[in-house]
Amino acid sequence: ANFKDYQLNSDLLKAIRLLNFKIPTKVQEQVIPVVLAEKDIIVKSQTGSGKTAAFAIPICQLVDWEENKPQALVMTPTRELAIQVKEDIFNIGRFKRLKVAAIFGKSPFYYQEKEIKQKTHVVVGTPGRIIDHIERGTFDTSKIKYLVIDEADKMLNMGFIEQIETIITSLPKERVTMLFSATMPMDIKNLCNKYMKDPGYVEI
Ligand code: AMP
Repeated sequence: ANFKDYQLNSDLLKAIRLLNFKIPTKVQEQVIPVVLAEKDIIVKSQTGSGKTAAFAIPICQLVDWEENKPQALVMTPTRELAIQVKEDIFNIGRFKRLKVAAIFGKSPFYYQEKEIKQKTHVVVGTPGRIIDHIERGTFDTSKIKYLVIDEADKMLNMGFIEQIETIITSLPKERVTMLFSATMPMDIKNLCNKYMKDPGYVEI
């Protein structure tokens, strides 16, 4: 496959060229067309497979630049991963001028609040801090259409499963949900059954 096969807008193809991505990785080949068709997907794959761009590329394509409220939410287990994912999404969306914010704990609240209040297309964050912002009313989730649960098994092991559920139930039901996990323990399968609609499943 070739990135040109996906009918991505030229701003995205330009960014992909700049990143020196020549052809889609296996996980990208499996995930990009499904998300572009706005279908839910479960992906069992390891880090290093190119999974971040697999969700970042279709999200950057699908978000509406004109919308002022956040349209995509990516949940990650750690602040380090949140920062990395924010950077990866920024790099793919840069010529579309997409705004990406990262919110995570042990860091001042007010700066993150300012960041997500200004026009932000994509929010990346850790579960605890995402809930804090939702509860304080500083993160408006009413326009979230794309949800990514990244490294789901790691979040489960860190004890985040209830927080993940709290976040999911506060989002619009009309949305595309993508779940990435290196392993598929029962609690993750249950989460998928409960909150995903007829998901595709790929194993890399
Ligand atoms: P990830 O699995 O998302 O952590 O990505 C692993 C690494 O692969 C990152 O450094 C990406 O920049 C890189 N990468 C992602 N997609 C591609 C691609 N299609 N071609 C070459 N490198 C890629």
